[in-house]
Amino acid sequence: MGVENLVLPNSVVQVRVESVRHWTDDVFSLRVTRPVSFRFRSGEFVMLGLLVEGRPLLRAYSIASPAWDDGLDFYSIKVKDGPLTSRLRHVKPGDDVLLGRKPTGTLVLDALKPGHRLFLFSTGTGIAPFASLVRDPETYEKFQQIVLTHTCRRVADLEYGAKLVAGLASDPLVGEVAPAHLTYYASVTREDYVHTGRITSLIESGRLFRDLGVAGLDSVGDRVMICGSMAMISDTRTLVEAAGLEEGSNAAPGDYVVEKAFAD
Ligand SMILES: Cc1cc2nc3c(=O)[nH]c(=O)nc-3n(C[C@H](O)[C@H](O)[C@H](O)COP(=O)(O)OP(=O)(O)OC[C@H]3O[C@@H](n4cnc5c(N)ncnc54)[C@H](O)[C@@H]3O)c2cc1C
Repeated sequence: MGVENLVLPNSVVQVRVESVRHWTDDVFSLRVTRPVSFRFRSGEFVMLGLLVEGRPLLRAYSIASPAWDDGLDFYSIKVKDGPLTSRLRHVKPGDDVLLGRKPTGTLVLDALKPGHRLFLFSTGTGIAPFASLVRDPETYEKFQQIVLTHTCRRVADLEYGAKLVAGLASDPLVGEVAPAHLTYYASVTREDYVHTGRITSLIESGRLFRDLGVAGLDSVGDRVMICGSMAMISDTRTLVEAAGLEEGSNAAPGDYVVEKAFAD
């Protein structure tokens, strides 16, 4: 659908869909062209949407590709009857979508103090900002070890993250470092799988650390990013703070940062 004849607000720009992939009935990803002037830091989010009845309908979306990439990737839920995603799920290559001009967010390396090991805890589409960060060379310059966890209801929901991680070895920028420094830990809550259970249970019981063969969280060397539902963030925050980590922000870097994957 073209929007070229309509006057858009200054806050958005029109971009073209390059590719779309439907992973399950519940999630899909899309890649759009990146305006030359569009700058962002890996891990940030931006408004994305469509023109609906002549008006922009926009929602916050984490950018799932790294800051150096020529295109912009997004990983999206399909909410039944959701105002945006009931429409966005139908986009095809060649369609136009709207992109906000001002990316922002707290899941950025700048918001963390220096550390040795970086935990990226995600559930559902909350893996999107980490898909950006694990392909950014700066992540490996700043941290010796990166642990990416992804928890979903079903095994099929893990495919996006599993494919992302499998592709890191052939990534043009991080291909030489990522395989040796990144550990991927996936779990599901509603089916049998090699790892099952909520990430909070896996942290609290120590199971996560035993499975990984590493020591538990420590506030000296560990830094943490959390992205999931409000409940997941709240529960994970409690565990991380119990280990002595303090929350950071862009203005005051700390030991951990959080961002909601969606508004409840
Ligand atoms: C900072 C931020 C970053 C976000 N990044 C992403 C992203 O990368 N990918 C993405 O798919 N969504 C993301 N979202 C959610 C997104 O903004 C929309 O809510 C989503 O696209 C659905 O839009 P909608 O208009 O169809 O339904 P909405 O009216 O926005 O949502 C309806 C309901 O659906 C549920 N819901 C919405 N989004 C999700 C989700 N991602 N996972 C599970 N349940 C959900 C919630 O219960 C919500 O109340 C983000 C939200 C925030 C605040």
